[in-house]
Amino acid sequence: MRRFSYVKATTAADAVRAVSSGGQGTRFLSGGTTLFDLMKLDVEMPSRLVDVNSVEELSSFDTSGSSELVFGALARMSDIAADPILVREYPALSESLWRAASQQVRNMASVGGNLLQRTRCAYFRGGEPFACNKRNPGSGCAALEGINRGHAVLGGSSSCIAVYPGDWAIALVAFDAVVDVLGPHGERTIPVEELHREPGATPHIETVLDADELITRIRVPITRLGRASTYHKIRDRESYAFALASAAVALDLEGDIVREARVAVGGLATKPWRSRAAEKMLSGRVLTYESARTAADAALYGAEPLEESRFRVELGARTVADALMIAKSRTSR
Ligand SMILES: Cc1cc2nc3c(=O)[nH]c(=O)nc-3n(C[C@H](O)[C@H](O)[C@H](O)COP(=O)(O)OP(=O)(O)OC[C@H]3O[C@@H](n4cnc5c(N)ncnc54)[C@H](O)[C@@H]3O)c2cc1C
Ligand code: SF4
Repeated sequence: MRRFSYVKATTAADAVRAVSSGGQGTRFLSGGTTLFDLMKLDVEMPSRLVDVNSVEELSSFDTSGSSELVFGALARMSDIAADPILVREYPALSESLWRAASQQVRNMASVGGNLLQRTRCAYFRGGEPFACNKRNPGSGCAALEGINRGHAVLGGSSSCIAVYPGDWAIALVAFDAVVDVLGPHGERTIPVEELHREPGATPHIETVLDADELITRIRVPITRLGRASTYHKIRDRESYAFALASAAVALDLEGDIVREARVAVGGLATKPWRSRAAEKMLSGRVLTYESARTAADAALYGAEPLEESRFRVELGARTVADALMIAKSRTSR
């Protein structure tokens, strides 16, 4: 048992103050479904937890606005997934949540914490004796020469090829979402697409957030691309598993012609991966399976698989192409 202290914050400002003054090793605590998991594995060893579950201003969400959807960081995945407006108008957002984890986990897990979940790389979670630059900078990467069937084929480096495992961020990136963040020096807004970093030579630095910055809300601009959208997730079993490949796509069609498309891929890259090349390729074209597949290949362009992960380049392209056809079938709803 490792000793740590625990405080409960009741306002966002209190929470930030408590983390800021707590020193290194102090962490925000939301649902705990990532943090407690990693503490039990001795990967995370916080000295102090600042529980934000009583901060009411973070808990609500509103999907009825005319310019944006607003989700408090502490809103639970299950509540948002079941919101009737999202289910009807933004299926990709709803699906990215209910296709994640299990009902029990979704009841507990917050959408803010979801964005900051850490990789499922077994060497990262397994601890010693495995080399892992993310857990122990400079120690090496056991996955490069080890079991890497599920590792990233996009955005990796010679230091780390860990996949960003979340689903929600992939759909948010497709919809140009932003996060509002409160730190000791005030508020700032960050596009979700810029929140996570590629590993480069410093895989232990995963986001652009400072340790004492609290995500307060997630905002998604209202768009006419919402209805014809989907989050298509392929995994080893039908439920309760992370993505081997996934795609969040959204379309604005005039007949069969694409006015605008959004394409983001998940389960394949070191961070949520938007493909503007695929979007550009679709724009102004008739959407058939063939044109969808051409765009899907563009989304996977530059993939660098290892021997075990080679199959996921083709799987990823098929996932994107199939997602585009699912989204197209929703235009007439
Ligand atoms: C068995 C299992 C299966 C899962 N399957 C999936 C899956 O298929 N797809 C998927 O997307 N996810 C999956 N998950 C991950 C799950 O969705 C996340 O663990 C969860 O969303 C994290 O939210 P939380 O509120 O529990 O975060 P916590 O565990 O409380 O926190 C996670 C991290 O974020 C920080 N943090 C929390 N809230 C904030 C905030 N507001 N501002 C700044 N920092 C914050 C914490 O300090 C911590 O570092 C699975 C988890 C489990 C346990
Ligand atoms: S892929 Fe990244 S997380 Fe996994 S062992 Fe290598 S450095 Fe660690």
